[in-house]
Amino acid sequence: MTTLSLDGLSKAYGTFTAVHRISLTLRDGEFVSLLGPSGCGKTTTLRMIAGFIVPTEGRIVLDGRDISTPAGVVPPERRGMSMIFQSYAIWPNMTVAQNVGFGLKMQKLPAATVRERVGEVLDVVKLGHLAGRYPAELSGGQQQRVALARAVAVQPKVMLLDEPLSNLDANLREDMRSEIKRMHTEFGITTVYVTHDQSEAMAISDRIAVMSAGRIEQVAPPYELYARPRTRFAAEFIGRTNLVEGQRSDGRVHFSAFSVDADAADGEGQVLASIRPQNVRLTPRNGAAAPRADGQVLLAARVGERTFLGERWDYALRLECEGGGPPLRAAAPAEQVFDVDAPVWITIDRDSIVE
Ligand code: ATP
Repeated sequence: MTTLSLDGLSKAYGTFTAVHRISLTLRDGEFVSLLGPSGCGKTTTLRMIAGFIVPTEGRIVLDGRDISTPAGVVPPERRGMSMIFQSYAIWPNMTVAQNVGFGLKMQKLPAATVRERVGEVLDVVKLGHLAGRYPAELSGGQQQRVALARAVAVQPKVMLLDEPLSNLDANLREDMRSEIKRMHTEFGITTVYVTHDQSEAMAISDRIAVMSAGRIEQVAPPYELYARPRTRFAAEFIGRTNLVEGQRSDGRVHFSAFSVDADAADGEGQVLASIRPQNVRLTPRNGAAAPRADGQVLLAARVGERTFLGERWDYALRLECEGGGPPLRAAAPAEQVFDVDAPVWITIDRDSIVE
């Protein structure tokens, strides 16, 4: 069983704080992504876990042992972790099998054991037939699979991956994403995965830690993060959303065009709500009676702009109410076609308005 905890971890460079008191605990076998824009501190965090960067404050606890304490810091090679970088860093002068077996040989395991383990891991990444090839004779995706195979062959306690797919083209990226997920399911290694690509993080992770400016904004499973973002940054970074400002008072939240029962008795004051475009539903309004909208928000609007995106329409809407109300965007199925300026009814489920 492996547990990894980051406890109030910080890294400062002079007066600049790259990582600010982050705390995160990974369960045994869990796959957690650090997700955020360039410069938010993802790589710095990963390199602290690996032992390449010394934290300014806080602790890294692996299986109950503080491995970062200045008194007894554990060097990278003794942390039982494998790290994979953007550049695959496999050795050009070694065959695929030699690359994958290298770490095992270093551990002085008997040659027969090395051969057996290498064969086993190469089968999982479907490279068994290329065991005798050199890296120069492999495609980018195959080289990346060798890097993965080499990392898992040593049976690390923890795998650390830093944007491992960013050098691959879009199709290959998706294949490799599934490959990494399959390897993770197969071997169950506790994994920290760094990416700035939200769909990659959503597809692959048990939980995602959203980072911004050196801090963790929210940690949650992908769906929960998408459905219930806790901060403006998390709402905007994970998928597209409508952010609507409102005011909470007397158990209701009042937006400029409508009001709803407040989510919780959370006191009074300003509220920022997130409404995902696919939860803004449209029906025609040319003379048609208003749709039934029990427990839903019902609004009259017109289509402002529209963009066809193949599998869906993206509609920008103008509310027809006093003061205009907030601009809203709706994502509608491809077959739901409205012209610019068409009158529409909007319905929104109360539950999809996240305060
Ligand atoms: P990217 O996705 O671009 O790799 P990141 O989220 O991994 O970004 P980090 O590489 O962790 O970001 O860097 C976090 C911040 O710390 C950045 O603003 C970076 O400029 C700064 N930084 C990193 N290393 C150093 C250093 N050695 N000295 C000073 N500042 C640094």
